[in-house]
Order: sequence, then C-alpha cells, then structure tokens
Amino acid sequence: MGILSGKIGLVMGVANDRSIAWAISEKLLSEGAELAFTHLPGPSSQRRVQNLVEQYKPKLVLPCDVQKDEDIAAVFDDIARSYGRLDLVLHSIAFAPPQELRNPYLQMSRAGWHLAMDISVYSLVAVCRAAAALMTDGGSIATISYYGGEKVFPGYNVMGVCKAALEHSVRYLAWDLGRQRIRVNAISAGPMRTLSAAGVPGFDQMREHAARKSPLGRNVEPADLANAGLYLLSDLSSGITGEVLHVDCGYNIVGL
Ligand code: NAP
Repeated sequence: MGILSGKIGLVMGVANDRSIAWAISEKLLSEGAELAFTHLPGPSSQRRVQNLVEQYKPKLVLPCDVQKDEDIAAVFDDIARSYGRLDLVLHSIAFAPPQELRNPYLQMSRAGWHLAMDISVYSLVAVCRAAAALMTDGGSIATISYYGGEKVFPGYNVMGVCKAALEHSVRYLAWDLGRQRIRVNAISAGPMRTLSAAGVPGFDQMREHAARKSPLGRNVEPADLANAGLYLLSDLSSGITGEVLHVDCGYNIVGL
C-alpha cells in the first residue's frame, strides 16, 4: 500500500530512462499508482517506451503526438474505456527546432515559434481539458518548466518564452479547474542531462554554473524531481494549485 494506491494516472513524455517523466513515474508506481503512458507515434518511440515500461505491466501504452487533437482525444477515450476515470496527469513534453535554438531569439522564424508553442504550451491546455472530463472526483496535473522562463539564458531562447507561457498557463488552468477540485502545478526543474537537453546550446555550462551557484552546491538529481512530482501529484499538496515549485537546489534564490 502506498499513498497513491487505487489512483489512476497518465504520464506523457517518457522518452527513455533519463527522462524527467521516468524518474517521477517510478516514484508514482512505487507508491501504488496505476499508470498509462504515451509515446510519440512511430515504431522506434513505441519500442523505446514499451521496453522501459513493460516491467510494470501497464494496461495502456498509447501513441500520441500532442500536435494532433485526434491523438489526444484517442488517448483519453482509451483511458475512459479502461478505467472510467483519471486522478493524475504528468505532462513532461517540450520541443523546439534545434537549428532555431542555435540562432539568436531575434532570428526565430514564425513557423518555428508556433511549433514550439504548440507542442510545449498549448498541449498542456488541450491535455487539461481532456483530463478534466475524466477527473470526476478531483485530480492533480503537473507539468515541467525551467528557470529560463523567468530569466534570460542565452541559447535557451524560444524555450524560455515557452516556459514563461507554460507557467502562466498553469495559473489560468488552475483557476479554470479549481472549482472541480482539479489542481494544476509546475515543477521548475534544475538542468538534467536528457535527450531534450542535448538540443540546448551551452547546456553543460548551464549545469556547471548551476552546481557552483546553488546553495546546495550540486545539480538536481532524478530523485529530487521524483519526490517533488509525488508531492504535487498526490494529496500531500492538497492545498496547492497554480504554483511553480522550484526544484533546483535553490539556484533561483541567489543573486550573483
Ligand atoms: P525528454 O526525456 O527528451 O522528454 C521530452 C519528451 O517530449 C519526449 O518523450 C518527447 O518524445 C516528447 N515530445 C516531443 N514532442 C512531442 C510531441 N509532439 N508529442 C508528444 N510528445 C512529444 O527530456 P526531459 O528533459 O525529460 O524533458 C521533459 C520536460 O522537462 C520538458 O518540458 C523540458 O522542457 C522540461 N525540463 C527539462 C529540463 C532538463 O534540464 N532536462 C529542465 C527543466 C525542464 P520523443 O523523445 O519520442 O521525441
């Protein structure tokens, strides 16, 4: 028995065992949650995710490109058919065209900007809307942000603009869903070496700087994010919504 026994969850954004979503998923599973997973459509993503999650024997491992409304609808239809309800959702998805991140933000193309915003921000709105319909007994939704949404990190560029929009979406979604007892929060994670992070120019310097400057004198680890994910997605955080929780070893409080 764990604190999530009997809870049904959906995790979107596991790519491999280094994904932030995977660290949080393992924690949720260890506390008794039953999880469904999504992966980008296509045989290689499906194989990657299926191989990783099969040890936990999930009932649903579903394709979903969050750019497609029909994919999102199909995922929540499957969850409705299998479980009839939903208690928690982890949204851990972002994308920006890597070649665009190599140029100054000033040079950002219209198409690249829309693509990054669609996948990294609008998807949370669409997912919250679909999830809310199944969260008949309240629920908790969490997404993953970065401090580059508050301050300028050269190279993070459009992703920083996306994270600013994501964090403010969290507040508006928390407002819209609060009376249904559905909470929406974000974790602002310190830099972690993942597939997505590999596309951010200067990422290793960001990590070195974060470890040097943080009060805790180190970089964030998967367990730090797993614990925070459990907190926000369980009743441990029952009175908290619209919040951006920094899980960054304190990096954001230091002014030098
Ligand atoms: P990750 O393992 O690469 O996860 C990103 C996920 O987004 C992948 O599963 C990817 O699928 C998925 N994705 C991309 N486009 C998609 C689409 N159109 N539809 C559905 N899924 C899509 O990297 P991560 O670092 O854990 O990233 C997770 C979240 O944490 C992101 O929001 C990221 O911005 C945020 N974050 C990361 C860090 C960090 O330092 N790593 C710090 C703060 C915040 P595929 O791999 O199959 O393409």
